[in-house]
Amino acid sequence: MDDQKKSYGCCIAGGGPAGMMLGLLLARAGVDVLVLEKHADFLRDFRGDTIHPSTLQVMHELGLIEPFLALPHQEVQVLGAQVGGVFVPIADFTHLPTRCKFLALMPQWDFLDFLVGHARRYPSFSLWMRAEAQGLIEENGRVVGLEVMTPEGKRDVRADLVVGADGRHSLVRAQAGFRVRELGAPMDVLWFRLSRRPGDPQNTMGQFDPGRIFVLINRDSHWQCAFVIPKGGFEGMRAGPVESFRERVATVAPWAADRVGELASWDDVKLLTVRVDRLERWYRPGLLCIGDAAHAMSPVGGVGINLALQDAVAAANLLAGPLAQGRLSLRHLTKVQRRREWPTRVTQWLQVQVQQRIIAPVLGRSASIRPPLLLRLLDRYPFLRRIPARLIGLGIRPEHVRSPIAPHR
Ligand SMILES: Cc1cc2nc3c(=O)[nH]c(=O)nc-3n(C[C@H](O)[C@H](O)[C@H](O)COP(=O)(O)OP(=O)(O)OC[C@H]3O[C@@H](n4cnc5c(N)ncnc54)[C@H](O)[C@@H]3O)c2cc1C
Repeated sequence: MDDQKKSYGCCIAGGGPAGMMLGLLLARAGVDVLVLEKHADFLRDFRGDTIHPSTLQVMHELGLIEPFLALPHQEVQVLGAQVGGVFVPIADFTHLPTRCKFLALMPQWDFLDFLVGHARRYPSFSLWMRAEAQGLIEENGRVVGLEVMTPEGKRDVRADLVVGADGRHSLVRAQAGFRVRELGAPMDVLWFRLSRRPGDPQNTMGQFDPGRIFVLINRDSHWQCAFVIPKGGFEGMRAGPVESFRERVATVAPWAADRVGELASWDDVKLLTVRVDRLERWYRPGLLCIGDAAHAMSPVGGVGINLALQDAVAAANLLAGPLAQGRLSLRHLTKVQRRREWPTRVTQWLQVQVQQRIIAPVLGRSASIRPPLLLRLLDRYPFLRRIPARLIGLGIRPEHVRSPIAPHR
């Protein structure tokens, strides 16, 4: 813990993509900012490792794209799906109007370590690891800080603005009493990894067969695998031996049958309970929620990190100036929600459509399937693949870095 000060311009609960990017941008603008992360490091598996072209564009606008792309990563230019044995290209990123015309796959901890490394160049940036926000401090109806548990004991941190960037199980949003609108999801996802060997398929893709969906992400030395199951089905599966799951994996991916034994026990399989929700109101006097804390996204399209980052950029654009000048008001927080709620709503609507029209029917089906009309059109007319590429790669209303750079940099 490098800083024992009592009061900050902004205190951010949560050192995920949203919190860390906001911390970097505010520090860059000269705001005294403290990020609290409850874990000791960022080393957690299966946290979402897709860096979309719009996020790469933000890195470019920050002048960081070259060192960023020097980190180990894989690049995906075309995303596709295999439906009933037929491969269909879905999104072609090569025509996007961005510096990087691909999706980068990089472990989230490398991404976060990179952001921290650059944030630390600014004197007004502080990060406390193993520091868990446990409660809001309120005075006269206004949030004025956070109660934080640290290795040295309990601390009160005061700030002009508290930001809840503490993910989908956000303590901040629960304590603030924000109303949550649940949109529901018909599936959960089981994540695991299998080694990659010569002769394996090359593509990162989704595989749709009757009753199951299997997503394979090429991570060079291994496959990051997502096995989509009907909602709530994991408890029943877990009651049985892991061997039965291994057999299911070998059936969907026969080429991997020689290594499903790498799933030694259920401990090698991580459950992602899919939630799609959003807050009706993202702010209160002195408090704002962004990222998953404001809106948990479906894994459809892998856009969670992207939306979280875009929230952070928009929040910094709108709040850095007022925070640096000590004139932040509720009006500024309202503007952040107004700016980001629309992209969130549209993205979630699209995700729910895919969940209801494609995922639920595939999971509930036992007869053979063939690509629906929409996918057949994407297969036949390559230029149409630019539309999903824009939706997935850029998102609705992409944000650009407009927050100021402090003169004392
Ligand atoms: C298994 C899995 C796979 C995923 N795959 C993808 C993918 O491929 N692509 C994609 O775009 N998205 C994916 N996602 C979603 C993506 O990870 C999230 O949408 C994104 O990380 C949200 O960023 P965030 O900063 O809002 O929240 P988070 O990433 O959840 O970060 C919140 C941070 O806050 C910390 N924290 C929580 N509570 C406290 C507290 N009280 N005090 C201090 N710190 C706290 C947490 O430790 C965490 O570091 C996946 C999610 C999961 C769970």
